[in-house]
Amino acid sequence: MFEIPEYVTIARQMTESISGKRIAEGNLGNSPHKFVWYNVKPAEFAANIEGKAIGKAHTRGRWLFVPVGDDHILVFGECGGRILLHGSASMLPKKYHLSLRFIDGAALSATTQMWGAMELYERGKELERQYIRGMRTTPSDPGFSSAYLSDLVKEAIANGSKTVKAILTQDQMIPGLGNAIAQDIMFKARLHPKQPLPALQKNHVENLHRAILETLKEAIRLGGRNDEYDLHGNPGRYVRLMDKNAVGRPCPQCGTRIEKTAYLGGACYFCPTCQRFL
Ligand SMILES: [Zn+2]
Repeated sequence: MFEIPEYVTIARQMTESISGKRIAEGNLGNSPHKFVWYNVKPAEFAANIEGKAIGKAHTRGRWLFVPVGDDHILVFGECGGRILLHGSASMLPKKYHLSLRFIDGAALSATTQMWGAMELYERGKELERQYIRGMRTTPSDPGFSSAYLSDLVKEAIANGSKTVKAILTQDQMIPGLGNAIAQDIMFKARLHPKQPLPALQKNHVENLHRAILETLKEAIRLGGRNDEYDLHGNPGRYVRLMDKNAVGRPCPQCGTRIEKTAYLGGACYFCPTCQRFL
């Protein structure tokens, strides 16, 4: 699934490569998939985008916003899979869930892996959508300070989210993070995934805050994770420290063998020495 670094990379590449391109034709895919969330019928989608130019894409959390003309916006949300630019429409993949063909002959396709939203809104109406309306401060927002994170930890404790992994990956407390990038964040912050939040002191929260921003910055710099693909079909260059390949290998800090545990809907990879319970 895409997390902040992959979304930021695709948005940047869209701005570089398709901003200003005019749409000749759009459609909502050739392969029905019950976990793709559409909000308009194919004919309405086609009619509202054809002849319009693509604007400058931007992201928030796990949502990608692509302006279409002056009046509409294409929204990709909580997706995994591929969003790809093709030199010509003849290069579209066999199965896809959305495509745009541009008047210069290039084409864009989006194919979801598990689920995801591919929606078209009149400009401004997307902000009323569930999960976009009321989205919490994301790590890309200026308000995501150490003090903000400290307040969020207190709120999480009050609401029953009791551990470090829970605050990083559950209920969109920190929009845009997911189970993949969270593993490296917890390692860099030297916090165990199951570490109860009430034991965190000010310095632990500061370390966690720094680890979130540094890990994201590095993954964005490297064009996203190496198990996801960018707009041009190239894998990202960010190799996670803590993933399934790390299990049993020595920790890069201390040499202890990396362990795996299943917790909160996904595997956790951690160093039992560096990430001791407080
Ligand atoms: Zn270690």
